[in-house]
Amino acid sequence: MYLIELFRPYGAVCDLPEYRLLVRVLDEHFTVTGTGPDTQVTVKPPKDVPSDSLQNPSDTTAGYDAHKGSGYQAQIMETYQTEQRDKKKPDLITYAEVEPANKHDAYGLLPAINATSERTCCPDDVVCDTLYGSDDNVLKAADKGVEIIAPAQGNAPVGMTSLSDFVFDPSTNAVIRCPEGHTPEWAGHTIKHRQKATFAKTTCSACHRLNRCPVYYGKKASYLYYDEAQLRIAHRRVSEQSIAFKDKYRWRAGIEGTHSHLKSDVGAGRLRVRGLAAVRFTIILKALGLNILRCARALNARLLLPFTAICSLRYPLSNLVRSLYDKIYSLLVNNNRFLCFHR
Ligand code: SF4
Repeated sequence: MYLIELFRPYGAVCDLPEYRLLVRVLDEHFTVTGTGPDTQVTVKPPKDVPSDSLQNPSDTTAGYDAHKGSGYQAQIMETYQTEQRDKKKPDLITYAEVEPANKHDAYGLLPAINATSERTCCPDDVVCDTLYGSDDNVLKAADKGVEIIAPAQGNAPVGMTSLSDFVFDPSTNAVIRCPEGHTPEWAGHTIKHRQKATFAKTTCSACHRLNRCPVYYGKKASYLYYDEAQLRIAHRRVSEQSIAFKDKYRWRAGIEGTHSHLKSDVGAGRLRVRGLAAVRFTIILKALGLNILRCARALNARLLLPFTAICSLRYPLSNLVRSLYDKIYSLLVNNNRFLCFHR
């Protein structure tokens, strides 16, 4: 604070990056109250310090994440095989991008789809974490012809009747019937473009589901309000329980192995560079290195095949040669011919 005030009148000093960093530290990590001699500087509580605050004066682009710590994070996308794993076909990293650790994962998916589309290696479907599977991401990816396989965010209220228990008109998404089979008195859009259905109060008051039903029990009727995003998420939660979804989603865990290989095989866990540009460059090179290693393994598997085939034929062939040899020897011996040989 003293240094900032001391050099504030000097424009040349204020333009220095070091001075700007000092101001940034004060703004982001401290609270200044009072003026003049009554000025007080107090350290902000951790929850008030923004996640994109300065973490290190020598690495100004690093961010902070409460779970991962300060630094950077890498978004990685790779191919995977769902059938019997073929060692001759490598699984390759198709996208690697680095961003400060404070960036939300939800913003990492669409750039990955866009980048792979530009390189004509866009996937048909992407299996990813809950954080990537927001309704917005699912819709935007679907526009590009990509199916997102990820659980819906948040938890469904336990023991409550869900929106998915209602029956909807597939073209308008208006309610046709409630879970108890009652038809609404009215169903349509509100002026705020939300969907609304009105049920007779007498019907709902006698219903055993009333306490668990998402309807609002009003003075004149029971009202159900929802929007299309809520409806899509309710349907996704139902489909998440299906065996088909679980069978597709189980492949997501495989990316953890790639993260581990990036750290252990090519040393991406702790880098010797600072700054977003340098970290990005290094991570992309390391992803490329892992791809080369995988290609080399796949090539090795292809080249080893003839050798393996020969090895597998070695014992049957040697047995055949030996039995032929024994037969010829016994014939010669039986015919009393002299034979000298080394076996
Ligand atoms: S409370 Fe009303 S809307 Fe809900 S299930 Fe019962 S009858 Fe249907």
